[in-house]
Amino acid sequence: MSETSVAQERKIVTSIPGPKSQELHAHRLKEVSAGVGAALPVYIDHAHGAILVDVDGNQFIDLGSGIGVVTIGHTNDGVVAAVQEQVAKLTHTLFTVTPYTPYVEVCELLNKYTPGNFAKKSALFNSGAEAVENAVKFARKYTGRGEIAVFDHAYHGRTNLTMAMNFKAMPYNSGFGPFAPGVHHVPMSYPFRDPAGMTGAEAARRAITYMEKRVGAANLAAIVIEPIQGEGGFIAPAPGFLKALQDFAHANGIVMIADEVQSGIARTGQWFASHYEDGFEPDLITIAKGVAGGMPISAVTGRAEIMDSSHPGGIGGTYGGNPVAAAAAVSVLRQIEAGGPLERAMAIEAILLPRLEAMQAKYDIIGDVRGRGAMIAIEFVESGTLNPNSAASDALIKHCHQNGVLVLNAGTYANVIRFLPPLAITDAQLNDALDVLEAGLAKL
Ligand SMILES: *Cc1c(COP(=O)(O)O)cnc(C)c1O
Repeated sequence: MSETSVAQERKIVTSIPGPKSQELHAHRLKEVSAGVGAALPVYIDHAHGAILVDVDGNQFIDLGSGIGVVTIGHTNDGVVAAVQEQVAKLTHTLFTVTPYTPYVEVCELLNKYTPGNFAKKSALFNSGAEAVENAVKFARKYTGRGEIAVFDHAYHGRTNLTMAMNFKAMPYNSGFGPFAPGVHHVPMSYPFRDPAGMTGAEAARRAITYMEKRVGAANLAAIVIEPIQGEGGFIAPAPGFLKALQDFAHANGIVMIADEVQSGIARTGQWFASHYEDGFEPDLITIAKGVAGGMPISAVTGRAEIMDSSHPGGIGGTYGGNPVAAAAAVSVLRQIEAGGPLERAMAIEAILLPRLEAMQAKYDIIGDVRGRGAMIAIEFVESGTLNPNSAASDALIKHCHQNGVLVLNAGTYANVIRFLPPLAITDAQLNDALDVLEAGLAKL
């Protein structure tokens, strides 16, 4: 889709969802499992940059990026060209049977741009959950231990092991157990809800005490943490928290794993959110969502000695590192390398944060504004309290959808609105979307 064929603006020409979307949705409900949800049942025909065009001709400003996936922008020209070229050359051999080079190039780029000045290697998979599962496999094989620590409010996926690692039973886990054993939830640093003034070191002490007393440090293979929690509501731990956990891990032979599936790949204005914490160099990093402009591919990248701990044949999968998806990833990674996306994420923060903070000053149901780069959220409370106010966030999300702005919710209490715009969004589109949000707030 070329730039000229999608007018880069918000436009609502029917009720939402429009008549064609309603018809398609009725059909879908007959044919598709009810377990597969739909946050906004408008059927998208095509997209470019930050604009989604539905089958009724409505145009939405996308502040969700398919949950942080099309970070580089919808139908990014470089990604489209790379996919078109690769799909006509080679679509599959299975890398573990007869290899091909785009796989190796993705690994080389990820080894280079992940934090940590040590020898690294990578392995490629299809989904975020698969990357997390494999990071845990590497850590268990390397340490010879079985237990893993994860955090309150975490989200890691929908497979059996990753369901066990999630915090929130509804909707992710409820009724789907029993779950994989050996997973322990540990208190997170949640500055908005922790006791006032609690430092990162103090929050880490609370978490470490739990790991030492309840699990036993010598039993732990890995600590797995999102440096900024995604589904949990963009909770960024207090400074010092991540580094203190890493120090504890390294003193006890535990592998430190950062799940950067949502926060990685230029989303926060750095290659990885881990870069923001001084001295934090996770042993392994899981990567997916933003890495390939919408094509399904994921990775585990980390210390070479851990990544080499498996016997040959222990790691893999039929489609992992598919050549077409890998070509798309190379395009995205080369665009970040060439410059622009990181700076763009910071420019987005420079618009989003002050405008949201101004709204917070005016409307006391906004309890917190937080996040980094193009990964910013607002948490809603009942006025003057910390009580979650999901009625307010629900109403506001609905208002945005009706007016052509796609926003997503998040949070353990479903009272968070998160902003994950494609970096291709223009200042004018972002300000227009924020005008819609502000008008909705005034109406509440
Ligand atoms: C989305 C997400 C996952 C799961 O990724 P899938 O591709 O949906 O399997 C894992 N971890 C985090 C932090 C995520 O945001």
